[in-house]
Amino acid sequence: MARNHVDPHSSTRPAHSAPACASGADYPVAPRGHEDLRRLVKRLAVEGEVFRGRYFWHQTSDPYMLFLAEFFLRRSNRTTVARYLPSFLEHFPTAEALVRADVSAVLEAASWAGLRARTASLPEVLAQFMERTHWSARELMSLPHIGEYAAKGIALYIFAEPVFPIDNNVLRVVGRYLGVAGRENIARTVEELTNITVNEGGMAALRLAHMGALAIGWEYCRAKNPRCEACPLSESCVAWPEDRRSAVVSYVGGAEQGLQYRI
Ligand code: SF4
Repeated sequence: MARNHVDPHSSTRPAHSAPACASGADYPVAPRGHEDLRRLVKRLAVEGEVFRGRYFWHQTSDPYMLFLAEFFLRRSNRTTVARYLPSFLEHFPTAEALVRADVSAVLEAASWAGLRARTASLPEVLAQFMERTHWSARELMSLPHIGEYAAKGIALYIFAEPVFPIDNNVLRVVGRYLGVAGRENIARTVEELTNITVNEGGMAALRLAHMGALAIGWEYCRAKNPRCEACPLSESCVAWPEDRRSAVVSYVGGAEQGLQYRI
């Protein structure tokens, strides 16, 4: 049985669709209200607090360590970064040491990170990064090999900019929980969610909510076979309503094509 199954290529709004949202654009699936967003950010922040001890870069305010984590996380998964970044930091304990390092030594110390050309550019990218004391996410994207996700991660965790980096974990969790389909619609919802979080809890709450969304995406809201039974959001998740908790939720759409799920 399908629920909220939205054809991303169709322009027809389902009968239960809500009126245009505040931004003037239509949601393909009825948006949930302000209280639903508040409930979500509170729960994400709680999970973020629980989760923050798991990866050391979430416990530090050291800009160098945070920059390296975001740089490597763009191409390496969190387990690899958690395993190998500490030894990389032993080789290059300070930003100055890394900027001065031979490229060959950097490549050797980061052989686990793959993509040699990208790693080889790290001292130069870091040197440019250190030229300024403040960067916005938009400005960071002008640096070589810093994509949108890393730029927003650096801006959020180092420079306290109220942005919410969106990856597939965030797309799945927010999309499924609120019943919002399609990358653009979810991004708009995340923007609303960001504003609510900052207004009510400040930047610390926003960081925790972001960590919480990642944690739930990694631990429960997986692309295939999400663990709804154990998920802390299941009580009020649109994709896992009370009367269908014995059903299996499967994710059938890629984030790029728009979110779809069947129950
Ligand atoms: S209840 Fe299931 S679909 Fe909803 S957020 Fe949790 S894991 Fe994802």
